[in-house]
Amino acid sequence: MKVVIVGAGPSGLVTAKSLLENADANFPFDPIILEQEHDIGGTFRYRTYENASLVSSKQLTSFSDFRLPLSYPDHLTTEAYVYYLRGYVDHFNLNDRIRLNTKVINVTRHSKGGHVVSYVSRDSKDSEWRSEVSTIHAPYIAICTGLHVVPWIPSIPGIEHVVAANKHIQKPVFHSYEYKKRAQLQGKRVMILGTGETGTDIAYEAAKAGATEVVLCSRAGFLSFPKQLDDFEVFGYKSEGPGIPLDSLITNLAESAYVHPWVEGSHVRWFISDFVIKRLIWVLTGTQAGCNQWVGELEPDRLGRAYVFLNKSQKAMPYINRPYRKRPKVFDYIARYIDPPEDSPPQTDFTVDLAPFPTHFLPNGRAVFLPSKRKDYIRMKDRDVRPELVIYATGYKQEFGFLDKESGYPTPDEANIRNVVKEGDESVGFIGFVRPGVGAIPPIAEMQSFFWISLLKGQVRQPIPSPRYHLLVKDTARIKYGVDHSTYMSTLAKDIGAAPGLWELWREYGTHVLVCYCFGAAFTTFYRLVGPYKSASAPEIIKTELWDTILRRGVMGNLIMGVIPMAFYLSINLLAYGLGTAWAMVGGKVE
Ligand SMILES: Cc1cc2nc3c(=O)[nH]c(=O)nc-3n(C[C@H](O)[C@H](O)[C@H](O)COP(=O)(O)OP(=O)(O)OC[C@H]3O[C@@H](n4cnc5c(N)ncnc54)[C@H](O)[C@@H]3O)c2cc1C
Repeated sequence: MKVVIVGAGPSGLVTAKSLLENADANFPFDPIILEQEHDIGGTFRYRTYENASLVSSKQLTSFSDFRLPLSYPDHLTTEAYVYYLRGYVDHFNLNDRIRLNTKVINVTRHSKGGHVVSYVSRDSKDSEWRSEVSTIHAPYIAICTGLHVVPWIPSIPGIEHVVAANKHIQKPVFHSYEYKKRAQLQGKRVMILGTGETGTDIAYEAAKAGATEVVLCSRAGFLSFPKQLDDFEVFGYKSEGPGIPLDSLITNLAESAYVHPWVEGSHVRWFISDFVIKRLIWVLTGTQAGCNQWVGELEPDRLGRAYVFLNKSQKAMPYINRPYRKRPKVFDYIARYIDPPEDSPPQTDFTVDLAPFPTHFLPNGRAVFLPSKRKDYIRMKDRDVRPELVIYATGYKQEFGFLDKESGYPTPDEANIRNVVKEGDESVGFIGFVRPGVGAIPPIAEMQSFFWISLLKGQVRQPIPSPRYHLLVKDTARIKYGVDHSTYMSTLAKDIGAAPGLWELWREYGTHVLVCYCFGAAFTTFYRLVGPYKSASAPEIIKTELWDTILRRGVMGNLIMGVIPMAFYLSINLLAYGLGTAWAMVGGKVE
């Protein structure tokens, strides 16, 4: 039973491995991965740059049953993560299943059912694509072509003036996927468009590279939060050892497991945790805009976990904050955020200038910024900014030109069952097309692959409850694939019968695993303790590596981030449960 998988990034690899592991007499899955590049690894391999590292932790980002050693740093470089993926391919014998230098150019429906996948190939990355087109007929196809492959470039009037004014530079305007090395930025006046993680990373690299000017343009602001909580000092006390990765903080019980549908639907947990976090970081750092973020704040109606992808690349913040930080020094004796010494005076007093997006460039190459009441606009409005380099860190768009239009193939936007398939078209799976506000795509792809397999086998709970995991975006938003990581993961787990019950867990595995499950984040390994994807290695991974994420919070951390929210949310859930039961008794529907 052939399954063609398009793309050998993390999503494609894990989908192939899940299919192989869950093949049986009724569903003898026989996956094959077609990848246009000359290596596996996808965006982590091809759209990365010098000094790039993951913002999601190794504990959350690694797949459920192939883990990274405890001794490894919490956040890998992209290079190390690709190395990890190679290990995954070897360990699960996927090499024979991958055809590199093979580009899918067309997918149509076969008259007798299934799909006809047409592809071209080449000998190496430097050779031409052959004109000969080959085909595979397969009953199932998994589209794993990623969210970050085709660059999205906004049109800015007058950008050609920047090119004309900088003829001495080989390429004065380019997209961030072409940014590779610090040396590209050295000695230049650099403008970066976009304040996502890549944009702020490049701003930092420019500051370190000795760029003469760095202007970082933000369209609507951003929400900055460090990927690891280890740079705070409270009453002179700074904890030793690596801090806790941000994505390992949110506890399971009553946050993602055992949540009443009404509580989940109201998103009350997101708003309450936002409320608490804002006040906490105000005490710790003096600002509520983000963690130690003094400029570039989002509008109040979008400022919070429920609305945006957090920017977890904190490195550029000391440079961005410099002209704006205005907290009286005396408060620093209570608590403060400590910038790394190498990025603080006297080592450097360089500034990364935050600015609004340019509306256009004048014929002399000068940027004109969108007027507003923002403090960065007020500071920058009269500045003569004439960049020598403009880098679009504006993200990516998704194109599915290879899916034949006449055959009525859906796109991921139309995949209305858990963002994985379109109802009625279950033989086409979209894996890796959601992005978490805080979290990681690879483990999500692993859960999606389980969900897709269960769906094909007819083993998903029915009816499927309506989704409650999407980030809250406006109808007009360009990006609508944002989800809350833990809510999405636990929803899929419930759908496929992999979410463990507390009693069941305790009976089978004892107290240690039970406590880990309640206090840990929504790690995929938890969903391999019971149900159709049960794995013998899960309990040991949980008792060692995942237990470590809980131990590292310390007593106070577990109290503040575990016991108190759990007790609070449990009571809200109990209340909802009571009301729901009463409602059901009078004939109401609870969903
Ligand atoms: C510097 C950097 C840091 C990042 N940090 C994180 C992080 O910390 N956590 C995180 O979760 N994510 C991070 N990301 C994003 C990360 O790249 C994605 O999570 C990940 O790539 C998703 O994997 P994927 O397999 O879905 O897609 P991709 O990795 O993009 O793979 C898609 C593959 O499909 C192939 N393909 C596309 N079209 C075709 C075709 N027609 N025929 C054949 N093959 C095709 C592409 O060549 C590509 O190899 C980071 C990215 C970068 C660049």
